[in-house]
Amino acid sequence: MKEKYLLHCPGCGRLFPDRYTLDCPGGCDALLRAVYAERRLILESLPGIFRYSGWLPIEGHLPIDAGPVSYESVGLARELGVSHLTITFSGYWPERGAGMETCSFKELEAQPTALRLREKGAGIIQVSSAGNTGRAFCQVSGLTGTPVVVVVPTPAADRLWTTVPAENVCLITIDGDYSDSIAFGREVCTLPGIVPEGGAKNVARRDGMGTVMLDGTVSSGRLPDYYFQAVGSGTGGIAAWEAAERLIADGRFGSRLPELHLSQNLPFVPMVRAHEAGRRDIVPSEDMPDPEASIARVSADVLTNRHPPWGIRGGVFDALAASGGRMYAVTNEEAQDAGRLFAEIEGIDLDPAAAVAVASLACAVDERFIDPKKHVLLNVTGGGYERAAEDLDRHRIEPFTWARAGAGLDGSLRDDILEWVSEQGVAVRA
Ligand SMILES: [Zn+2]
Repeated sequence: MKEKYLLHCPGCGRLFPDRYTLDCPGGCDALLRAVYAERRLILESLPGIFRYSGWLPIEGHLPIDAGPVSYESVGLARELGVSHLTITFSGYWPERGAGMETCSFKELEAQPTALRLREKGAGIIQVSSAGNTGRAFCQVSGLTGTPVVVVVPTPAADRLWTTVPAENVCLITIDGDYSDSIAFGREVCTLPGIVPEGGAKNVARRDGMGTVMLDGTVSSGRLPDYYFQAVGSGTGGIAAWEAAERLIADGRFGSRLPELHLSQNLPFVPMVRAHEAGRRDIVPSEDMPDPEASIARVSADVLTNRHPPWGIRGGVFDALAASGGRMYAVTNEEAQDAGRLFAEIEGIDLDPAAAVAVASLACAVDERFIDPKKHVLLNVTGGGYERAAEDLDRHRIEPFTWARAGAGLDGSLRDDILEWVSEQGVAVRA
């Protein structure tokens, strides 16, 4: 294989070159995977996540020093009674060298995704999120000048901010809810030069998140026995599984897949319910009854994805089946207690979702779901908001235009967006 990597479809077994491909050309319902020619993990002398660029679907790197940071916990490990606890932190924590200024691991996804798109000449990326994902893409846009189209419900636009001016963001606000924004985003992607970010289907997003498993393993010198993360779509769990398989093939870090211990926030726990029932399908009436009401009650609303890649081939169900492990349903109170404990003992405030993961680890020890003498990797997916608010500037993203829910892309809106696209001067592959 001459290329650095090829894409592989676990559905039909086909292997083919990447043209910013999100789906199997044969139409399989499966997540494509990147297969790297280099089977050994080679660490590059590059900033942040690009230390792991050998196993990222990109050729170059970006001038951004923001990657996962791992360390051996003393305080939390002792408090919980765990002998070997590696914490991999993605967020803002300058004393530990953690420089993700939007305070969330979504920057791990946004950086390689933006670069892959640019290198493949596929166009301008479109994102529908006013949460951590939207913020991360805006930040990468601000740092690199990479244009991005973001579509969000009007009231949520305030949740998008960056720590540097982001002048290449086309923010479109929708008078409606998230589903309306997603629907409008899909229409925007029908315009020439604009492509969807692809969510779990994007190998750059998954391999970007997979650097948490790489960093934690390199830091402790071996694969963990257990991997803990709170999940909304579960894509982080899939990414951890894929990265662990590569590390096993490398041969230097161990030969057993870490058990995945994935958590959700009550009362919205569709994957926990489907897992307990042993089902490859999520049945909405049983697994997420009355979703609006339960989503409104969780403390970590980033964990409330209604369409996670659960049953798809190579998805979360398969990751759990391959690696063993289990799922946890964590209450708001348990998460808040765990977040307070972490801040007291380890010294940094947590994102509500990361607090859910800490609570699940406490539960695993209490209930003896894990052997506390073995090696644990805790993925702390976000934190440092209080520090970032003290240290860093905060820039609001001004809306470019707005639309009514369900109105569709009318002529003048379409022209405005196309004019913005042409001003970005992005080379688009014919
Ligand atoms: Zn296929």
